[in-house]
Order: sequence, then structure tokens, then C-alpha cells
Amino acid sequence: MSEHAVVIVGGGPTGLMLAGELALAGVDVVVVERRPSQELAGSRAGGLHARAIEVLDQRGIADRFLEQGQVLRAAGFAMIPLDISDFPTRHNYVLGLWQNHIERILAEWVRELEAPVHYGSEVVGFTQDDDGVDVLLSDGRSLRAEYLVGCDGGRSLIRKTAGIDFPGWDATTSSLLAEVEMAEQPELGMRRDAVGVHGIGRVEYEIRGGQVVFEDHGPVRVMITEQRPGATTEPTLRDLSEGLVSVYGTDYGIHSPTWISRFTDMSRQAAAYRDRRVLLAGDAAHVHSPAGGQGLNTGVQDAVNLGWKLAQVIKRASPDSLLDTYHAERHPVAARVLRNTMAQVALGRTDERTNALRDTVAELLGMDEPRRRIAGMLTALDIRYDLGEGHPLLGRRMPDLDLVTADGPRRVFTLLHDARPVLLNLGEPGGIDITPWADRVRSIGAGYAGTWELPALGAVEAPAAVLIRPDGYVAWVGDATQAGLTDALTTWFGPPAAAAPTPA
Ligand SMILES: Cc1cc2nc3c(=O)[nH]c(=O)nc-3n(C[C@H](O)[C@H](O)[C@H](O)COP(=O)(O)OP(=O)(O)OC[C@H]3O[C@@H](n4cnc5c(N)ncnc54)[C@H](O)[C@@H]3O)c2cc1C
Repeated sequence: MSEHAVVIVGGGPTGLMLAGELALAGVDVVVVERRPSQELAGSRAGGLHARAIEVLDQRGIADRFLEQGQVLRAAGFAMIPLDISDFPTRHNYVLGLWQNHIERILAEWVRELEAPVHYGSEVVGFTQDDDGVDVLLSDGRSLRAEYLVGCDGGRSLIRKTAGIDFPGWDATTSSLLAEVEMAEQPELGMRRDAVGVHGIGRVEYEIRGGQVVFEDHGPVRVMITEQRPGATTEPTLRDLSEGLVSVYGTDYGIHSPTWISRFTDMSRQAAAYRDRRVLLAGDAAHVHSPAGGQGLNTGVQDAVNLGWKLAQVIKRASPDSLLDTYHAERHPVAARVLRNTMAQVALGRTDERTNALRDTVAELLGMDEPRRRIAGMLTALDIRYDLGEGHPLLGRRMPDLDLVTADGPRRVFTLLHDARPVLLNLGEPGGIDITPWADRVRSIGAGYAGTWELPALGAVEAPAAVLIRPDGYVAWVGDATQAGLTDALTTWFGPPAAAAPTPA
């Protein structure tokens, strides 16, 4: 039986991100993935929102995604465009990039970090005891881990085996989604009718002048809202053909599907993200409609919240109660995603009364404050973890400021590339001493002359110092005094190292 600190089940976006985070922290981690390779049949999710791009930037890998994607200046709420070009972030846009490419780039990063991914390997069960977890594979082998993380998607075997409830709401809509060839030129774009919204587009596209411009040939991505939700069989080419005929009067001669799937607006969330040594992240912990494109983004950010905490517990720097903050912080975030996707599905209905409601909401979202509020939520730039009362930065993402340091100009995010916490002293040089945490927390003195502006909140008072967690969230804000710093360091990064014995 091979032994690892962490076994991750599932090498989708969440599992890969978590593997990268743990490998950066020097933790012995292995990913077990049932697919024979990283290859993903079909394009699935369509892109990345601002905060997810920021967390990739915090690790120095955002450019890899930006080079291959398409930039769109607006996020969409129930398909109502929300311009985010005035948001105070370097990534004030949505990056259009299909999930198969996102996974490929993440997998390359994980390979560079030498975290192994065992493809073609399926987990069929596990048992946990006080010291670890035995993970059973379909070929009869087993693995032993200190912690097991289920990143195994919406039908998560890990969640079910752990007996974690998955309460929520059944589907009210269902759509076929496929990639096919078409003998005839289809009508590209969206169409609304009494059944719902449908769409046809080429997989390959460019964004020009804020508009999606499809290639004039190549595979076609089709989405058809079904007349009735609740089908239990796997969708076929025939289902798709019939669906197209019912909406467009023709199936455009579809043939050669590479991928046919069905998605719904079922909305469910794990009641607990942790059962002792077993944790859940990504779709294993929450499923909802793809409206607004938030699922993959939320999973990647679950991973970034969990990774450094798990690493510290494994290294015995922090007690295992630190892992409870993962549920405390991330459960409310996904609960909010469930609510906003349910609202978007409701607004997406196509009867006259809902059309009137959507027009009214669109009018409201044309106003500055509502646009900023809702776009802040969709992009996840507005997240505030509840770290108590205090400065508005507390619990919020640290902005990527241009600093002046003794070593020259530095962006804040570059200080987080190695996923270690940072104490940023913007006040009197050398004024803060964190020697007992020097093995875990990097202390940097810097100057910053600009204004401090937070998305959805606006300008905030400049702090004298900030303690930044490896996930980029602010754990402590200093004024002229250092009140609360020792507590914050201990809470997030463990007790101080024992003082070295004084020589006799
Ligand atoms: C049509 C559609 C459009 C979407 N659009 C967007 C979008 O624009 N933006 C967005 O953010 N999200 C979007 N999503 C959601 C997004 O695809 C998911 O949220 C995302 O894939 C979740 O990632 P994950 O890693 O948590 O789970 P998954 O991607 O489901 O990965 C789970 C992995 O675990 C593996 N696995 C499962 N069970 C086992 C086992 N027992 N043993 C070993 N391996 C196992 C699976 O093979 C899989 O690779 C969309 C989804 C759909 C269906």
C-alpha cells in the first residue's frame, strides 16, 4: 500500500488546482483520476471570471491562460451584460477559454510541480480511522493518506460514502449540450421561444469589438432547452436532432458528435465540507445551473482556500481545527452562488411576465451601484470572509498594488507566487517584528503611494500594514499599533516557534 499525506480524488479543475497548491507547499500529494488521460471530450465550461484569474495570477500562471483565451469586458447575469471594465483589478474582464484548455494548462502546471496524477484509476471506496484514510481503487489496490479530498464532481462517491447530506432543489429545466458537425450552415447565436433559450455557435470564436465572432467552419456547439426536465437516459444524437427540429425546424444535417451531454438547474450543496479526515471541494460540494459561469471558478477558489490550510495541518504547524475554517469560509460563498443561479434561471424563463421582470432587472442593472454589486458577486471579487469587525480590507482580497520595495518595484501578487503568507509593512521600516513566525511568514517592507480601492466597495483608508494569507485574503490590518497581530499570526499560521535557548 502506498502512503501519501493527501490523496485527491478527481483531476478536474478543482483537483488539479488543489494538487498544485499542495505541491507548492511541499506536501506529498497524489491525484487519482478515472479518465484515461487529461483529455476532456467536449468543451464544457466557457471561461474564467476576474477573481479566478487573480488567484492564478497570485501563483504566476495567469499569463498561460490569457495567452490562449479571449477577453470580454462584460460578465453576464441572466444574460444581461454587466460591464466590468471600471473594476479596480488588473483582470477587469471575463476570459473566454473552454474548460478542456483550462484543464490542460492546469495539468501542465501540476506536472511541473511534480505532483503525480494517476490517470485511468478509479476510487471505489474508503474507510477512515483516527490516523488516516484507506482509499480503495477499482483494481483492488489501496492507498493510505492522512487526508482525502473529494474533488470528484457532482455525483461524488466521496461525499456519498462519507454520508454527507446534499440538500437542495431538484431540476426545473434541462438542456442538451453537444459538439457536432453540421452539413448545412446553421443559424448562429441565441434564440428564445416559449420553451426557453437555445443557442448554436462554433467552438472556435474570437471576440472583436465586444462581440463574439464565430469561425465560419469547424465543430458546432449546440444548446437546446428540453421541453421537459427529468430525463434519466443518456442523451443521443437522435434526441439532439429532434430538439433542433422542434426549435429551428431543421437539424442542419448534424452528424459526427464528439460529445453530447445534458445539464440542469439542480441546485444542491453539501451540508458539511468536512467529515474528520475527508474534505470536499468543487462540484462534489456544490452543483447548480451553469448560468453566469461560476462553477469551475468556485471550485478553483475552494482549492486555493483549502490548500494552504491543509498543508499547514500536515506540517503540524497548525492544529487540525484550522480545517474547519474551510467550511466556514467557503460554504457561504457557494450558498450564494446557488441563490444567484436560481435567480438567473427564474429570470431566464420566456413567458411574458418573466420577460417584463427581466427588462425591469436589466434597467436596474444599468445603474452603477446595482451593476457593481451584482458583477462583484459574479466575479467573486466582492468575497469577504468573516474575520470579525475592523478595517474594510479584513477578510477581503488583497489588491494587486504596485509597490516600491528595497529590491525595486514589485506587484503584490508576485509576493504570493510560492503560496506563503506575507506581512506587508507599509509604515515605518523595521517597525514590526515577527521573528517567532519567520520560518512561515515572509516580512516585507514597502511603500505605496496610490489610493486603495476595493471592487464593489470603493475607496478605503490606507492601512499601515497587512497580513496576507497564501490565498490572497487579508488576515489582519495594522494601524499605528500592532494590536491583534500576534493573535492573527497564531490563528492562521500556528503558535510562535519556541524561542531558541539562550547560550549559557
Ligand atoms: C454546460 C456547462 C457549462 C458550464 N459553464 C461554466 C462556466 O462558464 N464557468 C464555470 O466556472 N463553470 C461552468 N460550468 C461548471 C463546470 O464545468 C464545473 O463546475 C467544473 O467542471 C467543476 O470542476 P470539478 O473539478 O469540481 O469537477 P469535475 O470537472 O466534474 O471533475 C471531477 C473529476 O473527478 C473524476 N472522478 C469522478 N469520480 C471519480 C472516482 N471515483 N475516481 C477517480 N476519479 C473520479 C472525474 O473523471 C472528473 O475528471 C459549466 C458546466 C456545464 C455542464
